Amino acid sequence: VRDAVAQTRARGQRIALVPTMGFLHEGHLTLIDRARSLADWVAISVFVNPLQFGPGEDLDRYPRALERDADLAAARGADLLFAPTAAEMYPDGRPWIAVVPENGADRLCGTVRPGHFRGVLTVVAKLLGIFTPDVAVFGQKDFQQAALVRRMVKDLDLSVAIEVAPTVREPGGLAMSSRNTYLSSAERDAAQALAAGLRRAEALFRAGERDSATLVASIAGVLTARGVEAEYVEMVDPDSLDPLERARPGAVIALAAHVGSTRLIDNVILPDSDG
Ligand code: AMP
Repeated sequence: VRDAVAQTRARGQRIALVPTMGFLHEGHLTLIDRARSLADWVAISVFVNPLQFGPGEDLDRYPRALERDADLAAARGADLLFAPTAAEMYPDGRPWIAVVPENGADRLCGTVRPGHFRGVLTVVAKLLGIFTPDVAVFGQKDFQQAALVRRMVKDLDLSVAIEVAPTVREPGGLAMSSRNTYLSSAERDAAQALAAGLRRAEALFRAGERDSATLVASIAGVLTARGVEAEYVEMVDPDSLDPLERARPGAVIALAAHVGSTRLIDNVILPDSDG
């Protein structure tokens, strides 16, 4: 990677990195498109990072298809696919030094996934160190992750631009996710409730509703009606992640829910009145 990066820089070209855990879908591939629009040379990493999985989570059964990923990434125009082993990334098993978020990681997904964002930020910091990209591209679907990565770059004075691309959805609205492969067809139907709930809240917001509790309750109603169990539904500031009582354009309503044994997340950015 260092050689490829050095050669690219020697040509005066800009470098973009798209970090992923693989089992690529159209959501990941649009990140490659965005990266391509911002840089001359695009690398994608595929690494199921053990450090961001908690005990009892799905590290062992997380879907993997490296050959297929390599074909998809190449066909979409990625110049390099980096797929290290866990032993290459963490030669001592666990890192001595980790990036620990002091704020913002103990809420939303962090409530039930303690240590998750420490794992995410540590591996992203390593990938940024390996590639020294001009720009790294993340997805809005993992909104808390993107917010914390932006904050890490700011607080640690890293020299990289962070881009966040919109969530790509299945025709019914379900946000694409490698974890959707866990869903039975009945569960896949039920899972549409996440996006349907967020669409309903967005419609209420467009119609003038500004009360957070009312917007959140409208989503909870849609989830319950489809037998989907919400883990959290919250409206927050997109940068500080602080809870908001009053809705405004740019605020994010984020949720996590269990469909059967699968944990899914989704969110919506509340639009400008003309948006
Ligand atoms: P993952 O492989 O799930 O860790 O995701 C890798 C990157 O792809 C992250 O920046 C995600 O936010 C992004 N991503 C995952 N799903 C989607 C989607 N449906 N639309 C846009 N970006 C996504």
